[in-house]
Amino acid sequence: MQTREIDFASREGISWTTTSAFTVFHVLAIVALFYTTWQAVAVAVVLHWICIGWGIGLGYHRLHTHRSYKTPKIVEYFFALCATMTLQGGPIFWTAMHRIHHQHSDRDGDPHTPRDGKWWSHMLWTIFGEELHGDTEVLGKYAPDLMKDRFYRVLTRWHWVPLVALGLILLAIGGLPWLLWGVFLRVVFGLHCTWLVNSATHLWGKRRFDTRDDSRNSLWVALLTFGEGWHNNHHAHPTSARHGMTWREIDLTWMQIRLMKRLGLAWDVQVPTASQIANKSLAAESAA
Ligand SMILES: [Zn+2]
Ligand SMILES: [Zn+2]
Repeated sequence: MQTREIDFASREGISWTTTSAFTVFHVLAIVALFYTTWQAVAVAVVLHWICIGWGIGLGYHRLHTHRSYKTPKIVEYFFALCATMTLQGGPIFWTAMHRIHHQHSDRDGDPHTPRDGKWWSHMLWTIFGEELHGDTEVLGKYAPDLMKDRFYRVLTRWHWVPLVALGLILLAIGGLPWLLWGVFLRVVFGLHCTWLVNSATHLWGKRRFDTRDDSRNSLWVALLTFGEGWHNNHHAHPTSARHGMTWREIDLTWMQIRLMKRLGLAWDVQVPTASQIANKSLAAESAA
């Protein structure tokens, strides 16, 4: 396989496909407000939980990227399918970009560090540079485990298809209000929630652990993203299935992993030991 070197922090060129899609989605998200019904709002809330909570939190992030627990293959596939309906790209794209972020956090080569600008880290990074959402050839080397699986290669190539199918189903059942809320407004809200993890939690909040990056812990981002806001904890212990480290650090994804474990749907769940936590914590450093 030929390999091309890509600068993931590049500002060269603009992806018109991504820019047009995001523009249309933002406009229709505003239009959705004029088609508000209680049913449509409920559909959006349930889909936000399924697509961001299960798809991104339980799937792309803690399972596909960091392998912080194991689950039956069919569940893995289901979570990946849910995640594609967030318009954040296919599993190989997402996993590769996120692994690159952890390798180079807030240093040269990080695709989305606020050191390159707040808006860059939030959303601009998604529209500049080469269009790679469906590209398995370039990104595959960062996710060789997923590349071995035909399902993930096909899903990455055709990542937008499940969302189109969902839109048609919602339109058929609930008409325009369901389509506008369940797809457009819900996707835009979900995108900003996930993007806040790249922008806000590398800018504002408290640091418990001494990490080489600027990662922070943020309650409000955690509440919007089912627990992904405990980002300093996460950068210190990337393979941990648990991001909220105390009972006060609400982490709905961790609660769901515990529930899955109880149901026999999750095993080999990774959590740091007490000494691993103590070794990296800032309190330990200042006491020393
Ligand atoms: Zn980060
Ligand atoms: Zn991560």
